[in-house]
Amino acid sequence: MSWSRMLPQPGVVRARRQALNLQSLAALLRHVTVFMQSTNQPVLRDIVLVGGGHSHVGVIRNFGMRPVPGVRLTVICRDTDTPYSGMLPGYIAGHYSFDDVHIDLRRLAQFAGARFYRGQVTGLDRVARKVLMADRPPVPYDLLSINIGSTPQLGSVPGAADHAVPVKPIFEFNQRWLALLERVRTHKGKTRIAVVGGGAGGVELLLAMQFRLHNELRGLGRDPGELVFDLFTSGATILPTHNAWVRAAFERVLAERGVQVHREAEVRAVGAGSLSTGDGKRFEADEIMWVTRAGGAAWLTDTGLELDDSGFIRVADTLQSISDPDVFAAGDIAAMINHPLEKAGVFAVRMGPPLAENLRRRVAGSAPIPYRPQRRWLALISTGDKLAVASRGLLGFRGAWVWRWKDWIDRRFMTKFSDLPDMALNAAPVTPAPSPVKLDADEATQAISAIAMRCGGCGAKVGASVLSRALGALDPVQRDDVLIGLKSPDDAAVVRVPPGMAMVHTVDFFRAFIDDPYIFGKVAANHSLGDIFAMGGVPQSATSVVTVPPGLEAKVEDTLYQMMAGAVEVLNAAGCALVGGHTGEGHELALGFAINGLIDEQLSAVMRKGGMRAGDALLLTKPIGTGTLFAALPLLKVRGRWIDAALDSMCVSNADGARILRHFGATACTDLTGFGLLGHLVEMTRPSGVDAELDLGALPVLDGAEETAVAGILSSLQPANVRLRRALRNQAEMIEHPRYRLIFDPQTAGGLLATVPGEHAAACVAALRAAGYSHTAVIGRILPQGDALEPITLKA
Ligand SMILES: Cc1cc2nc3c(=O)[nH]c(=O)nc-3n(C[C@H](O)[C@H](O)[C@H](O)COP(=O)(O)OP(=O)(O)OC[C@H]3O[C@@H](n4cnc5c(N)ncnc54)[C@H](O)[C@@H]3O)c2cc1C
Repeated sequence: MSWSRMLPQPGVVRARRQALNLQSLAALLRHVTVFMQSTNQPVLRDIVLVGGGHSHVGVIRNFGMRPVPGVRLTVICRDTDTPYSGMLPGYIAGHYSFDDVHIDLRRLAQFAGARFYRGQVTGLDRVARKVLMADRPPVPYDLLSINIGSTPQLGSVPGAADHAVPVKPIFEFNQRWLALLERVRTHKGKTRIAVVGGGAGGVELLLAMQFRLHNELRGLGRDPGELVFDLFTSGATILPTHNAWVRAAFERVLAERGVQVHREAEVRAVGAGSLSTGDGKRFEADEIMWVTRAGGAAWLTDTGLELDDSGFIRVADTLQSISDPDVFAAGDIAAMINHPLEKAGVFAVRMGPPLAENLRRRVAGSAPIPYRPQRRWLALISTGDKLAVASRGLLGFRGAWVWRWKDWIDRRFMTKFSDLPDMALNAAPVTPAPSPVKLDADEATQAISAIAMRCGGCGAKVGASVLSRALGALDPVQRDDVLIGLKSPDDAAVVRVPPGMAMVHTVDFFRAFIDDPYIFGKVAANHSLGDIFAMGGVPQSATSVVTVPPGLEAKVEDTLYQMMAGAVEVLNAAGCALVGGHTGEGHELALGFAINGLIDEQLSAVMRKGGMRAGDALLLTKPIGTGTLFAALPLLKVRGRWIDAALDSMCVSNADGARILRHFGATACTDLTGFGLLGHLVEMTRPSGVDAELDLGALPVLDGAEETAVAGILSSLQPANVRLRRALRNQAEMIEHPRYRLIFDPQTAGGLLATVPGEHAAACVAALRAAGYSHTAVIGRILPQGDALEPITLKA
């Protein structure tokens, strides 16, 4: 059935509205008391946090500890692992691991019940109140907060953008740093490293790099003197914002360590392997690190927010932009008009609590309160070697004890974000909580309607205007063989089967497993298409079945739009036209597709499950482990980057994989889904009349999946899949293998499991890897059917 005919008739919609718009009901609800239960709570307001800086991590934790009923937090950040600046030099020096100095934003967001969108913000549409993103649809907000740090300004120095390494984004800097480490380890002879910027950041970074690289060379029995360090600063002195004693202490350390300090040496040009200063001198440098004063991100200039001369957002004492009270800013990116501050992580951290408080106040319609930052602050600057200097106003100290003190402070801070309290254990049993959110009359009516008893049957359909607005913004691919589709909707879509072709049908349906409708839509569509590709078919048309939880119309509309935008993106890429669907209300977000594909009538291209032959190689194109990883996500037992990698893998289409497998003469093929690897393998060996050997050691496995499976964190479908262990010949001897449980792990949007003739296996794997299926592996071999009842033998 196409969408338009499923919508309630306009008259019906109007009558329903009038009934709900009762003045007395709205007046009663207007100001506060919309009671909601945590299990049945419509979203009334969206607070969107852009950037996972030091202030926002505090805000997320704060909201996690004390959620605001009816308020949804969405965190958008480029990096899942957000760095804590205070420990970065210690990481470079080798005293801390990567995970010691990064906060896992996805995990923190999960703890707080916040949505985490990994991605790059590129702008704001303040009229539509939407955050614009590089690679996904705009994200609507009611309140916005920006904590994106500062951006190195390399553009003004010719060649710097091409040849220098800016210290931010830290993720990219870290990649370059690891590459430099490797180069120094493997390259014998002199390496010159230049650091541009004589502030605390530049000096600390240089000393940390030097300490680490010297240690590396000593460890390899080489001379640390192979490394030459230069520090360039445009000023007459290093550390200009610190007192004379602190400056002298660092001058001494730099001299003792043989660092050449170039004062009043503004770098004016950078080339490959060299830089030039204002006085016309040229210096050789194999690596140039850029740690000079930074500015605001370029995209802010188009937002209409008032910025200072360096491009930072001008904010009042309440941390609200002076041009828009619904936009807050904190950390380096904020320029407090009444309190100019140094750009330091310590201020960003301190802004967290007042920012959280003011977001709460603004959403409740009460006045935000001013924040007054401290005038003096304590800087603890390390010298790389587990010594540090304390600097505060006119005071200064140096010693190993200062480093230990700093280490204690920093670790204590990080523990707040790694050792998260189990809120589920502490929570009172579902008590209705009043929402402080201030609603207007229409919103109040919608909110009460959302929590009132909802109709079933056709009454559970999503409202006409919501649906038409959400779906109207989609742009599904148009095909000539779709005779009646979404463009001219009717009771049902009509599609033509071209002469000589037959139709391949499949259907799938999912409850949302992640609180990001756009990514969920992509994965659901990708999973649904998998069956068509596995059969060797070409997708043609799709109809969808959608369930969305009721709520304010604007929120329902956006959820629907985000989810279908993700799905349509995937369907379009596959050339599959969305021709209709059904959208209803339900407790949980869910999405499914019935997909039609085409295949030649002679079935010459078909890949069936039952074609395996003895001597074939068994291939898998994607890593397994989605079931256990997503079971561990709500328990906070996974790293965010494991989930990122799993989602990336789930979004990889099987289209090219199927084509390549067919090219190499695949004898059998299926896509890996709910029954897990063993279940699907048995589905293939049985009709093929063969046995198989499965090599556990060769299995491609998603990062973290082995850990979570060994920890016993398994999908709810696992027990049903485990019943198939009777298909294993040597189950008893393999049960302790760390990958044993993963063969039962149900997959969402898994890879293709296929067999190709043994002689083609190596070339086929190479072609699949070259096409982007980088985890493809031969995971076993097909054997003639033996006498044993069990068809599968496991190999360690
Ligand atoms: C080497 C070095 C050492 C330092 N040491 C110290 C120290 O010891 N103590 C101290 O107080 N300060 C230190 N600083 C300064 C400190 O790093 C900054 O002041 C601090 O990081 C600013 O914090 P923030 O919260 O404003 O932003 P950041 O910490 O920079 O965080 C910004 C976040 O926003 C994200 N982001 C950025 N742009 C976008 C976008 N467009 N879309 C989505 N997400 C985005 C980033 O991925 C990041 O997660 C040091 C700086 C350097 C360079």
